[in-house]
Parts: sequence; C-alpha cells; structure tokens
Amino acid sequence: MTMSPIETDYLVIGAGAIGMAFVDTLLTDTDARIVMADRHHRPGGHWNEAYPFVRLHQPAAYYGVNSRELGQGTKDTVGLNAGMYGLSSGAELLAYFDQVMQQRFLPSGRVRFMPMSQVVGAYEVESLVTGARQPVKVRKKVVDGTHSRMRVPATTPPRYAVAPGVSCVPVNDLARIARPQAGYVVVGAGKTGMDACLWLLEQGVDPDHIRWIMPRDSWVLDRANVQSGDDFFMNTWGAMTRQLESVVAADDVQDLMLRLEAAGEWMRIDPRVMPTVYHGAILSQAELAQLRRIHGIVRLGHVKAIDADQIHLEQGSIALDPGTLVVDCSAAGIPSVEAVPVWSGDRITPQWLRSFGTVFSAALIAHVEATVDDDAEKNALCTPIVPPTLATDWLRMLDVSMKNGQRWSRHPGLQQWLAESRLNSLFHPAARIRPDETEKVALMQRYRQAIKPAVARLPELIATLA
Ligand SMILES: Cc1cc2nc3c(=O)[nH]c(=O)nc-3n(C[C@H](O)[C@H](O)[C@H](O)COP(=O)(O)OP(=O)(O)OC[C@H]3O[C@@H](n4cnc5c(N)ncnc54)[C@H](O)[C@@H]3O)c2cc1C
Repeated sequence: MTMSPIETDYLVIGAGAIGMAFVDTLLTDTDARIVMADRHHRPGGHWNEAYPFVRLHQPAAYYGVNSRELGQGTKDTVGLNAGMYGLSSGAELLAYFDQVMQQRFLPSGRVRFMPMSQVVGAYEVESLVTGARQPVKVRKKVVDGTHSRMRVPATTPPRYAVAPGVSCVPVNDLARIARPQAGYVVVGAGKTGMDACLWLLEQGVDPDHIRWIMPRDSWVLDRANVQSGDDFFMNTWGAMTRQLESVVAADDVQDLMLRLEAAGEWMRIDPRVMPTVYHGAILSQAELAQLRRIHGIVRLGHVKAIDADQIHLEQGSIALDPGTLVVDCSAAGIPSVEAVPVWSGDRITPQWLRSFGTVFSAALIAHVEATVDDDAEKNALCTPIVPPTLATDWLRMLDVSMKNGQRWSRHPGLQQWLAESRLNSLFHPAARIRPDETEKVALMQRYRQAIKPAVARLPELIATLA
C-alpha cells in the first residue's frame, strides 16, 4: 500500500548514535523539519543488540548527543575502571537515546520519527510491520546514518561452520547460561572478545579454563589517557603530546609503534607479540592485568570450522574438550568502510573527522551543514577518515585528523562551536589552564611545538607503507 507523500527538509536514514547526534545539532542550529526512519523499534542503533554486560569504552562525558549530558560526571570508585570517569552501560545508552527522542526531538514538533521502518529507493519509508510505503519528498538533503556498517555478534552469524551439537553462542547469550561449563573458548580478540574474557574472569572463571582465539594481536589504548576531566590533564594531553613527539622522532613505522608503547600511549596484551591490528579498543591498566592472566591464547589465525571435538583454524587445529562453550565474538565491529565525500549531490554521509570521533563528527557535520553555505567549502572542512584495521592505518587516521583540526582552528565559526561542544570536552581542559599551573603550561607548549613537525613527518612515514 502506498500512502500520500511526506515533505521534509531532511530525511535521516538510521537513528543510531550518528543519526541522533546529527539531528540533535541540526535542531539546535536550524529551524529545519526532519524525518528519521530506523529499522529498530527505538533509537540507539546497534546498542539495541548489544550484549548485556556491554559498556562504552570511553567516558560517557563526551558520548551521545551535544545538547544532553550522558552519565553523572562522576568517577567509578569500584571495579576495573575505578578512579576514572564512568562508562555508560548498554541499558543506560538506550534509555538516554530514548529520552533524547521523547523529551527533545518529538516535542520540538520538527522531528517525525518512523521506527520499524526502512528507507528504500529514492525515497520511500517502508513499514516493517504493515508493509505500507510512504514516499518522502526531500527539500534539502538525505542523511545516510548507516555508513559505518556496524557489525555485532547478535546480528552477524559466525563466518565459520559449526557442527550440530557444538555449544556455540553469540556473546549476548553468555550472560544467560544456566549451568557451569567445563571451559570456555572465546573466538575473537577485538573489544567484544576482550569484554567477554573480562566478564568470565569477573564471574570467577579460572583463567586456565578460558581459551582465547586471537587471530591477530591488537594495540589498545590506555583509558587513563582519554579522560576529559581537568584532573587527568597531564595524562590526556601528555599522551597527545608524546604521540606527536613519537611521530617526529620515529626512524620508521615499527620504531614509531614501539615509541608509542614506551610513551604509555599504546599497550599490548602480550609483550612478547608485536600486534598488527589497531581498532581503538580502550582498556584500563587493571583490565589489561586481568586479560594477562589468560595463558591459553591460540594464535593459529581465524577459525574455519568447529566440529564435535576440534576447532579448525587457518594454521592448524586444536582439541575442543567436551562440555566447552564456544563464545562467538568474531563480528567486525567497525569495519574499514571506504570514505566518501561527506556532501555529495543530495546526500550527506556523516563519517569520522577525528580519530574515533563518531558522535563528535556527526554533530560537527550538522553544524557545518547549518552554518556554511557552499558544499565544496563544507567538504574542504570535513575530510572523512576510513576507520583503521591495521596498526599502520593509525598513521593515515592521525594525518587526516590533524589536518581537519588545523582547518577548524582557522575557521572562527567552528572555533566557538568546538569550545562549547560537550562532545569535544576531551579538549576543553586546555582552555582552562591558569597561568600559575606551570606544569600544564609547559606541556601545552610542548604539544603546540610538536604539531607542525608531526604534520610534516606523517606523510613521510605513510609513504613508506607498502
Ligand atoms: C561494544 C561496543 C562498544 C563501543 N564503544 C564505543 C565508545 O565508547 N565510543 C565510541 O565512539 N564508539 C563506540 N562504539 C562504536 C559505536 O559503534 C558507535 O559509537 C556508534 O554507536 C555507531 O553508530 P551508527 O549510528 O554509526 O551505527 P548503528 O548503531 O549501526 O545505527 C545505524 C542504524 O541505521 C539503521 N538502518 C540501516 N539501514 C537502514 C535503512 N535502509 N532504513 C532505515 N534504517 C536503517 C539500523 O537499523 C541502525 O539502527 C562501540 C561499539 C561497540 C560494538
């Protein structure tokens, strides 16, 4: 059944974190009317499918949408994040996005939210419940909030064959087991695999009863270095400064990685193995110490198939003991989807403009959309980043991030937005330094001095990558 058309200024496809952050800023900065459609029954995107014990990796203080605080701004006093600012749970994030929709977007009278609906063709919104199709006439732009192509285990079947009778569950089912298992095999070593291992250890599972299939080792970031409070200034800005100084001083890319590790910026789970992957997983030192208790790490590549008593991997097979539960954590998370121009024809495609700056970038893009006239000028301010997979991709990400940052610093309109945006609050402590805080002043001087040589050195290092 086709219904009468809806007219709107913006059609936003997807009410995940990106769609929500974009619309929130567009509402603040314009008087536009917006239609948002999402296949889920409520906003929050993939957080609707997250495992029960999921938490943000980063402090809540600078996640979510710009106009509304997330989290209480307090530090955890117990657990593996103790001493650092709180991390929202999946349930908190869903409640938060729901409140943003119910208490801000809908009461504005300018947003129409169409849940359980998908955007098809150019452009119709199709109800997944009734099948009814409603054409949408878009006066300004279509915003593609689906570009990240997020993959989570609950909705991504494993890419390996599992024989009947093998106990293999997505990570979501781990918190639903009803009896002790003889052992656990965690497949995947991204952030989800790390979370699964930490959860098992927290439940008291003997680390020797965990086998961890780690196709590739990853570099991880120390969470103490991504705290937005003034009290973490020396950590956060110290790490940013040492990062740039490492780039400048590095003889080559391998040397750079070791320098980043020596500077406390990057960490690895096993100091004997050189990681090749960098997905931006964030751990506290206490979490890292826990993960190091697991000695049954299997480094034989990706799993190809699991049969009744063996796991077959790319480079060999291992025994699967009876009564073992296999926990699938192998979904890609944030895949390295190719970048496209943010503004192209009638479309806006929000992407990262800063390393791991998912919601920050979506909000900034909405602000640029609202305040800059010409699409060429908008694109010139917003070069998109391809999310990294390999450790060497980090160099390209930093290169684009820094160049974007330099362009924004020369744009007076953006400067004010950056200074006020809660999604940029990681960077705000620098503006609050008092002249008598000599240690902080000296660190900022070092940071500023390192920018220009680092921007010059990055392309040289990138050119050495095959
Ligand atoms: C365990 C975990 C922890 C994370 N922690 C952090 C963190 O601490 N900080 C951080 O910045 N990021 C974190 N991330 C990354 C996170 O993915 C992003 O922050 C963000 O949630 C991605 O949102 P999105 O809107 O791009 O994608 P999604 O959440 O996937 O939303 C896209 C939406 O589009 C909808 N959709 C798709 N196609 C259509 C269509 N045709 N019509 C209508 N709707 C459609 C989908 O239903 C979906 O709801 C984490 C990710 C995971 C898995």
